[in-house]
Amino acid sequence: MEQLKNYIGGKLIPSADGATLENFNPATGDAYSSLPDSDEIDVARAVDAAKNAFPAWSTTPTEERSRLLFRISQLIERDTEQFALAESTDQGKPLALAHSVDIPRAVSNFRFFASSLMHFASEAHPMEQAAINYTLRSPLGVAGCISPWNLPIYLFTWKIAPALAAGNCVVAKPSELTPMTAFMLSSLCIEAGLPPGVLNIVHGLGTKVGQAIVAHRDVPAISFTGGTATGRTIAQTAAPMFKKLSLEMGGKNPAIIFADCNYPEMLKTTVQSSFSNQGEICLCGSRIFVERSLYKQFKQDFIDAVKSLKVGDPLESGTNLGAVVSEAHREKIISYIALARDEGGTILFGGKKVNPGGRCSNGWFVEPTIIEGLPHTCRTNQEEIFGPVVTLTPFDREDEVLQDANSTQYGLAAILWTDNLTRAHRIAARIHSGIVWVNCWLLRDLRTPFGGMKNSGLGREGGLEALRFFTEPKNVCIKL
Ligand code: NAD
Repeated sequence: MEQLKNYIGGKLIPSADGATLENFNPATGDAYSSLPDSDEIDVARAVDAAKNAFPAWSTTPTEERSRLLFRISQLIERDTEQFALAESTDQGKPLALAHSVDIPRAVSNFRFFASSLMHFASEAHPMEQAAINYTLRSPLGVAGCISPWNLPIYLFTWKIAPALAAGNCVVAKPSELTPMTAFMLSSLCIEAGLPPGVLNIVHGLGTKVGQAIVAHRDVPAISFTGGTATGRTIAQTAAPMFKKLSLEMGGKNPAIIFADCNYPEMLKTTVQSSFSNQGEICLCGSRIFVERSLYKQFKQDFIDAVKSLKVGDPLESGTNLGAVVSEAHREKIISYIALARDEGGTILFGGKKVNPGGRCSNGWFVEPTIIEGLPHTCRTNQEEIFGPVVTLTPFDREDEVLQDANSTQYGLAAILWTDNLTRAHRIAARIHSGIVWVNCWLLRDLRTPFGGMKNSGLGREGGLEALRFFTEPKNVCIKL
């Protein structure tokens, strides 16, 4: 069984006390590797390594930092096959998805920030003849980056790359459920020649490693992606210490479909926005609102399209939904489907566990599930399930659907289908979400601000927002 290691001070090492955790393959249910069960001692070592590396890294010429980040992106790209297989094995997602989305995006994250740091400029504010102000933007020191299991290397690199680009050193923690590709990244950083201590990766549980990173007094900034409850705990620790916080949290995203939309395009994309990555994407549209005149037709066509999706071995070509990440998560999803029944919902399709047989007989699979007949106020429609479960709700009026769509504690992403441009602008302005996709889904330009409002997020990632987050602005005013 492969033993994953921490990456601290440029070296691959076990946890200080040698403790390990099992790492499971969700498609087979087997433990197939182990990871360090680290604690605050390992985190303290990682922070020390990062602090030692900071003076040299923060003053390394921009061009050299950029070259190293480009080099890491090239190495991930070179190893795309191995990374995609590892991500699929670790997370349960179809290999084809890891190959076409997760790994290319990790490559792009490094490439994008390697390039954007070369163009990052700060502001100047001249005061006519009196004075000139200019803004210095310095790296913060040691940044803490904590990421979830749904898009493991994709989201891990989305934080690390801008933090490093801005001149910070990093102590990072991937999810304990999906540590493999972060471990593989450690080896590539060594191969790329990243100086020891610039990036440190500490594996283990959130309540031990994550908490220790957040609480460490020499980590002034935390960039976190994960659940809203965890974000709240992190904020409770970090706020009294006045740390900079970027929190990307849960979602319960509406997809609003008007009868005047491009129907075939909408139908195809709505299947994807509902069930890609087993519905384990914070941006999936899990509440589908359909204008009543289109409802009957949409319901039938959507069920037919979802029926044709294949749930099965993530490594087989043609698989649309792989395994969900853990047994506990599968039970959570199944319990929400039971709740939907209790709340009076009708399961139009799916609702059960799947046994694909063969090597996947003990894996954790769930059918794509479509539910109707629930009020927008019920728990099924208010709480994040984070699995392959959607609800269908008809609506009559724009103001009514907007109110229902806005009724949750979340505000991450919204999907809107209409050919009426005026309506699209009107709803985009009034919907409570940080990201609005009109007639598309998951179309991403890495320069745009990314994140949620309400309980979905604090701050924004992406492009300049990320580089600004990872730097401290200082105004210098010079009297002329
Ligand atoms: P999680 O909150 O359980 O864990 C996320 C990370 O935080 C993990 O690395 C975990 O070990 C760590 N952690 C747990 N407790 C901690 C603590 N007390 N202190 C510090 N770190 C701690 O989330 P998850 O189950 O891994 O991921 C699913 C959630 O992530 C969903 O709610 C989903 O919506 C959200 N998510 C949000 C976005 C976004 O961009 N907004 C993207 C992906 C996932």
